[in-house]
Amino acid sequence: MKTDVLVVGSGASGVHFARRALAAGRRVHMLDVGISKPTPVLPEANFIELKDQLADPMDYFLGQGNSALILPENDDEYYGFPPSKEFVFEDPQPQVVRSTGFAPLFSFAKGGLAEAWTGGSYPFNDGELADFPFGYADIEKHYSDVSDHVGISGSRDDLSQVMPFHGGIGEPVDLDAHALRLLERYQKKKVKLAADSFVMGRARLAVLAQDRGQRQGCRQLDRCLWGCPTGSIYTPSWTLNELLQHENFHYQPGLKVKYFQIEDARVSHVVAHETAGGAEFRVACEKLVLAAGTLESARIFLKSIHLDGEAIPQLTGLMDNRQVLMPFVNFSMLGKKWDVESYQYHQLAMGLDLGGPMDYVHGLVTTLKSALIHPVVQSLPFSLATSLRFFREMHTALGLVNINFSDSPRAANAITLETARGKDRLVIHYEPDASEPQRVARVSKIFRRVLRRLGCLAPQGMSHLRPMGASVHYAGTLPMKNKGGPWTLDSHGRSRVFDNLWFVDGSGLPALPAKNLTFTLMANASRIAEVDFS
Ligand SMILES: Cc1cc2nc3c(=O)[nH]c(=O)nc-3n(C[C@H](O)[C@H](O)[C@H](O)COP(=O)(O)OP(=O)(O)OC[C@H]3O[C@@H](n4cnc5c(N)ncnc54)[C@H](O)[C@@H]3O)c2cc1C
Ligand code: SF4
Repeated sequence: MKTDVLVVGSGASGVHFARRALAAGRRVHMLDVGISKPTPVLPEANFIELKDQLADPMDYFLGQGNSALILPENDDEYYGFPPSKEFVFEDPQPQVVRSTGFAPLFSFAKGGLAEAWTGGSYPFNDGELADFPFGYADIEKHYSDVSDHVGISGSRDDLSQVMPFHGGIGEPVDLDAHALRLLERYQKKKVKLAADSFVMGRARLAVLAQDRGQRQGCRQLDRCLWGCPTGSIYTPSWTLNELLQHENFHYQPGLKVKYFQIEDARVSHVVAHETAGGAEFRVACEKLVLAAGTLESARIFLKSIHLDGEAIPQLTGLMDNRQVLMPFVNFSMLGKKWDVESYQYHQLAMGLDLGGPMDYVHGLVTTLKSALIHPVVQSLPFSLATSLRFFREMHTALGLVNINFSDSPRAANAITLETARGKDRLVIHYEPDASEPQRVARVSKIFRRVLRRLGCLAPQGMSHLRPMGASVHYAGTLPMKNKGGPWTLDSHGRSRVFDNLWFVDGSGLPALPAKNLTFTLMANASRIAEVDFS
């Protein structure tokens, strides 16, 4: 038996680290706040049946007092999280955060933020990994292994020009009628679209088309937003449930880690508080792996440094993907019947290659189903009643592209901790680079042109720039580098300050390509779990 590893967090990063560490013969002890998800209601019912059969559908869909409803005067965001996902964002011991230019989200759930994710799983290519201390060849087998475990689906199509087609990719879920029509139109127009360096194909999704073990293939119940009741969409709690069967895995939920103690430049103990009651819990630790999510791992690290009597540093380089939501109307779908039996999130992905890998722009296309009405109704230039009438006429013809931009580390974007009178305050600051408005305008113009070629209209003025922090793709506070200062990690995620401390979540990413990062977090955590922890 090899050495014990203490892991903090059961999110996508933590469970994939633990899975590979156990496979390598290690004993893993995982501490977690670990709020559990509610049992799915009426798991066989589709969206319409759910509305008909629930005693109080308003309560289920919109929450008590319609708490999940975001009204038009709210300028920041289009979506509220439905009540069935509230557990993902619950904080049993709320902390004080002062944030400027950044809207942070934390999760203390069993499985973390990805219990609410939309499953987009896109590998970074060599160009996008250029600032990483490893290349695609070093992480490919982990992409394939994670893909196989999670059940990532996709297709070997034009998107493979901008993202590698690694192993373990399964058959995708059937396309809905609107997505199918868009893809057919793309096939006809792709030569012209190539002039804009534009490609489109099937989304790579952590969603099963076929049954696998206890998880069912997608039954097209149209309930993704409220939580897939059949396990078709992968969430990390599925892996956690498997880990719990392993004799060398010990899981301890109900503990919020506050800091670690340091002796001779090594972590000696971890100190947590029970979430029920607040009693202190202290555990000796030979090797500590932080997977509490980029922001929370930074908080634990900063607090530990402070309690060790050192000055609290600024961890610079915080990144997130800027996102623009661009609604569109597909004229060829006007007047078509709305199909209730379909997968709800994005089924198509778009790539715009504007030169360098970090100029690549990633688009996710969602055709409108039962939900996601707000982004369109809210931005129509009519009264609410007229907008709703218009929406009903147009429903099946509506879609939304979520356009993702890359980010790079900049000194101004930082996270630190302030402590005064025994109280801690996490301080986050983010400012976009000065060229962002031009970049967004230029890319939006190209996307509108591309959509026109696909037979769609994306009216100018209806696009929505999401606030920084909203994409929840947080990274870069302790970047992995071959050589670097104290607030960096080595190429295997090990701290340069404390010899027996590793970070396996987004903290260690030295750059943030436009593609959603979580698949890379899982593959990187697996990669780190296989190094020799001596
Ligand atoms: C609505 C939504 C949609 C998304 N869609 C996508 C997508 O399509 N594709 C994509 O790539 N990404 C997506 N994401 C982002 C993705 O969910 C995150 O990148 C990912 O979940 C991060 O995983 P993590 O394990 O690093 O951290 P987290 O998910 O934040 O997990 C942190 C874990 O640590 C535990 N923890 C935290 N603090 C402590 C503490 N002090 N003590 C003990 N335990 C602690 C928590 O309980 C949790 O288990 C989405 C996110 C949201 C919210
Ligand atoms: S993935 Fe979505 S559409 Fe498919 S079964 Fe789950 S909730 Fe239904």
